[in-house]
Amino acid sequence: NPQLSDFGATMSRLTGVRAIMKDIVETLQARAGEDLINLSAGNPVILPEVEQLWRDCTRDLLASPHYGEVVCRYGASQGYQPLIEAVVADFNQRYDLHLTPRNVLITPGSQSLYFFAANAFGGTGREIVLPLSPDYTGYGGICLVPESLRAVRPALEVDEAGHEFKYRPDFDQLEFGAETGCVIFSRPCNPTGNVLSEGEVRRIAALAALREIPVLVDAAYAAPYPALNFTPMNPVFAPNIVHCISLSKAGLPGERVGIAIGDEGILRAIEGFLTNACIHASRYGQALAAQAIASGALAHLSETVIRPHYQHKFTVLAQGLRAGLSLDLPWFLHRGEGGVFAWLWLRDLPISDWELYQELKQAGVIVVPGHTFFPGLRQEWSHARQCVRISLTASVHDIERGVQRLTQVVQRVMAYR
Ligand code: PLP
Repeated sequence: NPQLSDFGATMSRLTGVRAIMKDIVETLQARAGEDLINLSAGNPVILPEVEQLWRDCTRDLLASPHYGEVVCRYGASQGYQPLIEAVVADFNQRYDLHLTPRNVLITPGSQSLYFFAANAFGGTGREIVLPLSPDYTGYGGICLVPESLRAVRPALEVDEAGHEFKYRPDFDQLEFGAETGCVIFSRPCNPTGNVLSEGEVRRIAALAALREIPVLVDAAYAAPYPALNFTPMNPVFAPNIVHCISLSKAGLPGERVGIAIGDEGILRAIEGFLTNACIHASRYGQALAAQAIASGALAHLSETVIRPHYQHKFTVLAQGLRAGLSLDLPWFLHRGEGGVFAWLWLRDLPISDWELYQELKQAGVIVVPGHTFFPGLRQEWSHARQCVRISLTASVHDIERGVQRLTQVVQRVMAYR
């Protein structure tokens, strides 16, 4: 094995969900042929209408006189100009903004955008603050100095009778200081499905603006594409907000297209990292995206196909939980406001979420234990061991059967509270 630097060792560590995914892959391999229902996956469903859109865009690109220019030449680090222009036109028209091309940066997937930003603004002595924990497990590995990640415990709004709950940012705990480098959160949130209100986003951004701290709003599931919000929401824009889009949940995860919209100065700092790391994002996917956005087809399919698909599955899952779990048990489903996951909290769970995950595997259903979704949280919090994430990417039939198995296990385990 080669001798690693400190950064090399940090990046090689199997953190968060990567460790669980290894266990899941091994389980699926070892038990191939068994009726094991996988409700852990984050890979989006291939929806025929959406696949057709990308096929059509590919066909048009192949026939276009610009084909050679797109794939046979290097381009600008900032991104493919027609895509940048399509995004500017669409957002200006949709949200009544005054963006110019300088307010847009294209990155190879949005994960790399968070990696570049986390290291451009955070690191030794400079914190990356996650203002509401739990949040996206992928933030756990974005900084070369992992200790600089700091997540803040939320407040809980619990509807006891309705068996529902919602996380709120706890503004009594949320503080930014001279050492704060940047702020990141997902909206809608993976894993919880939470959508922070416009007021909450503005309040976080205003607190950060006092010290000119960039706030990255991870809109991987937001409107207008993929429009995986089940509750009305608008993107929030402010001088220190970078609105970060991904086309991965809009049917294009393989092409790695991330889009950052925000202040030119903030984007140039991120672009510096990008240029050094990879020169620019792949132009093939950018050229497809330029067409799909400019024609309006992507926004249209997002609203009419992608959103209803997952929203229906959330309803099926919620009904399955209600049918299978006693009302006198303290189980709470996070309000399903968007995304491709459901988040279940079992208050007073007498075993850990990891042990529950093992019990569920025995019963033939795989979910993701919740503790992996609290990257950067430094205090012990029993709640972090009482949750599981359930994916909506399985078929309706498998969600129904998987939830049935899950509720049986939860009924049995919770009886020992
Ligand atoms: N942000 C969130 C909240 C996600 O769930 C994901 C992927 O699952 C990403 C970012 C990364 O997406 P990508 O790099 O494919 O744009």
